[in-house]
Amino acid sequence: MAVVGAGYVGLVTGASLARVGHRVTCVDKDGERVAGLRDGRMPVYEPGLEELVARGTGAGRLSFTEDLDAAVGRADVVFIAVDTPQGDDDAADLSNVSAVARGIGRALTGSARRERPLVVANKSTVPVGSGDYVSTVIRDGAEEAGGLDSPEKVRFGVASNPEFLREGSAVYDSLFPDRIVVGAEEAWVVEVMRGLYGPVIEQSFPVEMDPRPRVTVPFVVTDLASAEMIKYAANAFLATKVSFINEISDLCELTGADVGSVATGIGLDGRIGPRFLNAGIGWGGSCLPKDVSALRAIAREHHHDTKLLDATVAVNDRRRGLVVSKLRRDLGTLGGKRVALLGLAFKPNTDDLREAPSLGIAAELLSLGAGVVGYDPVAVKTAARQVPGLRVVFDPYEALTGAHAAVVVTDWEEVRNLDLRRAASLMQEPKLLVDGRNAFDPAAARGAGLLYRGFGRG
Ligand code: NAD
Repeated sequence: MAVVGAGYVGLVTGASLARVGHRVTCVDKDGERVAGLRDGRMPVYEPGLEELVARGTGAGRLSFTEDLDAAVGRADVVFIAVDTPQGDDDAADLSNVSAVARGIGRALTGSARRERPLVVANKSTVPVGSGDYVSTVIRDGAEEAGGLDSPEKVRFGVASNPEFLREGSAVYDSLFPDRIVVGAEEAWVVEVMRGLYGPVIEQSFPVEMDPRPRVTVPFVVTDLASAEMIKYAANAFLATKVSFINEISDLCELTGADVGSVATGIGLDGRIGPRFLNAGIGWGGSCLPKDVSALRAIAREHHHDTKLLDATVAVNDRRRGLVVSKLRRDLGTLGGKRVALLGLAFKPNTDDLREAPSLGIAAELLSLGAGVVGYDPVAVKTAARQVPGLRVVFDPYEALTGAHAAVVVTDWEEVRNLDLRRAASLMQEPKLLVDGRNAFDPAAARGAGLLYRGFGRG
């Protein structure tokens, strides 16, 4: 296998495929990243990843290179797992995918390529219809390299293989996924993918885990466009579910109901399910915002209104402002006040700060004249670079010392396990705790001497 793009998705995929027995070359254009990986340094923080990579390289099944040609030359399947950020027009920017596809086309014509068809499986999240686009660009690359003169060498099939891993538990999700989706137009491509994922589908690789999470992983086969749509639809649904509970949370606040109890009460309904019903600051991160935007952009291209998705975004946009209003309500003016942000990464167990609520909240508080100190177990350095004026510390109690208010932005274990009495003893009046994740028991927080404000908690 070759996996192009050694980020959250590509590196985890590559290391997981090596774990289940394949020989994998991870390719990245970032030479520093490749050199670091060869020395065992992880470019991203993800629990269990370092061990998984060490295991793969130790077994001689996982290697790293900048050389796409050589990796494609040896591979039966090439995964594209490069970033597809939000472009200026909200649509997904496909320039990285396009560069890789062109490179694959060129490599397919090279002498290293055995005369055996190649499967190009796209894991990057791309607009519906991109599978055809990838095929076209591969052909363009091959043509540029003169490959179409020997067409028997330029034999390939394209699959869409969207990724559903969650940052923070990416290794687990990759080895024990809820499902694997493969979209393709040709049966042989599906069979290659089914074979490749066989050990994951059957959970037949040796694993030090008891009990095993499940016996067989569903393998969902679709056409290319449906597989691409499944990824967007899944993320749009999750974003909508969070916005829904946040809207209910606002109504709870107005009516005296408790959103935690409401979430438990509705989540036990099998049709609704308990997950993604946590009210608070709202959704962010590297996927939901850009994927919802991209889906709306696709709809606009088709002159279609997405009323539900528009509302999902509008509800979410208001959440961060609510944090500031809650601070203002109890602190009055924010000028000269000191606020501690507890957690900066967009969610626990990752160092990813893309579209993290902490960044916008910090910038807004600084613009209102507050002094802001941010704590995070792993993401502090990047956060300090991204928000000028934000002071960062590695110890939550240092962040709380002298603070008038603290905001729970990311509910890391380290934040959930804070000693609230100690926190209150270090803070200045009014010792306000705005709990953006409803992580603490309000009574316990008040008992510790804090002025507690959650979201939708009566
Ligand atoms: P990332 O930014 O962590 O990693 C992307 C990597 O690709 C980088 O190392 C970059 O150097 C490399 N790259 C870019 N262009 C390249 C090129 N031309 N040649 C070689 N390497 C190149 O991105 P990510 O978070 O892993 O996301 C990758 C894709 O997967 C995106 O489309 C994303 O939407 C999707 N996705 C991400 C997640 C997630 O939780 N991060 C989950 C599901 C799907």
